[in-house]
Amino acid sequence: MEKYIENAIANRRFFRQIAETGFLEMQTTIEIIKQLKNMGFNVKYGKSIHSKRLGVPSNEELKNHSKHILLDDVDFDTSEIFEGYTGCIAEMVSPEKGPSFGFRFDIDALPIHETENIDHIPNKLSFRSKNENTCHACGHDGHIAIGLSLCKYIADNIDNLSGAFRIIFQPAEEEVRGGKSIDGAGATDNLDYMISSHIGLNQPDSTIGVGSIGFLATKKIDITFYGISSHAAANPQLGRNALLGAASLALTLHSFAQYSNGMARINVGTLHSGNARNIIAQNSYMQVEIRGENEIILNDLYDKLNNAVKGTAISYGLEYKIEIVGEAICFETKYPEFTKYINSKLNEIGFKTTLNPRLNASEDVSYLLKSTEDKGGKSIHFLLGTTLKAPHHNEAFDYDEEVLTRGLNLYIKTIHILLNKI
Ligand SMILES: [Zn+2]
Ligand SMILES: [Zn+2]
Repeated sequence: MEKYIENAIANRRFFRQIAETGFLEMQTTIEIIKQLKNMGFNVKYGKSIHSKRLGVPSNEELKNHSKHILLDDVDFDTSEIFEGYTGCIAEMVSPEKGPSFGFRFDIDALPIHETENIDHIPNKLSFRSKNENTCHACGHDGHIAIGLSLCKYIADNIDNLSGAFRIIFQPAEEEVRGGKSIDGAGATDNLDYMISSHIGLNQPDSTIGVGSIGFLATKKIDITFYGISSHAAANPQLGRNALLGAASLALTLHSFAQYSNGMARINVGTLHSGNARNIIAQNSYMQVEIRGENEIILNDLYDKLNNAVKGTAISYGLEYKIEIVGEAICFETKYPEFTKYINSKLNEIGFKTTLNPRLNASEDVSYLLKSTEDKGGKSIHFLLGTTLKAPHHNEAFDYDEEVLTRGLNLYIKTIHILLNKI
């Protein structure tokens, strides 16, 4: 185990330094592919692993980012990766027949500037993000590291295992943009099992949450109002005020999240409008999200939002555009007995676990978990408990690297449980 753990820590520190946000994980994807190819995996990447991507950065952003990518020792075509078709899928088949396993690890970072506080371990040990305003503040650096060490374990032991192994390195989980795209391209076809996990998320230190529940369905929505600018004193009546429309809509939307049949959330996260104090604001742009504990709530919220945008546009004389830029669904396993079985087996071999921890958040692994079960397989999601140095999505987010050992061990043991070797 020692070499796999050392490898995980080295990778965690390496990938934290090259943190990249959703669909810009170009260097990250290239480095993962390099390692996977060295281990002997068959690796798929580029357009072939994607369907319809949501919330892709502009061509200009993609182009600017690709200019900084280092291509040392790269002997494969990176052109589609440079178009934002990031992430990759590794496959290896054991000589002995057995079940097909799928694993999913997300690889993107957040648009946050990592703290410069000298007590922050990544600063002390010199592995902070080298990319301005980009930081692995959700632990996906650890997910990549566990994923690659798991791959190394599978590659080293392929002759003693049985079955087929598919490891999905998914891009753009933040703002739930990549999961649907990868799923739509068939990432879960022919799988018997889909296994995934997340570091932290309120799971108590040194424990494993088995069979996460409470995946909230969500839509991330951009709303643009188009008005008419005019002189604010001489001809205000000729203007159509997009700023007032957006402000009014923000208040209206925040009054919607009231349901007795499950949790509901709505948030107007950004609102930009106007050019100067003496001009009636011509355009406005808002980033909004809605979430629901079930699809009925989510769809109802979405209908209300559409009506509110339409109504606001009419009353302020504006044109509008509503664009969905991210999406995730709920997930609840059809096989609670399977979850309980894995939980009791893990307990038998010494893992401290909690059954069915609640996420109360959205995670687009839900597409992969659900589609695996819809196609006849079984899915399970774990939480890897650890002490966090700061909350998720905070500039000082960090975790005890010991969680990498526990996480890797969990994946290896789960494979052995499912192969009836434990
Ligand atoms: Zn996150
Ligand atoms: Zn995350």
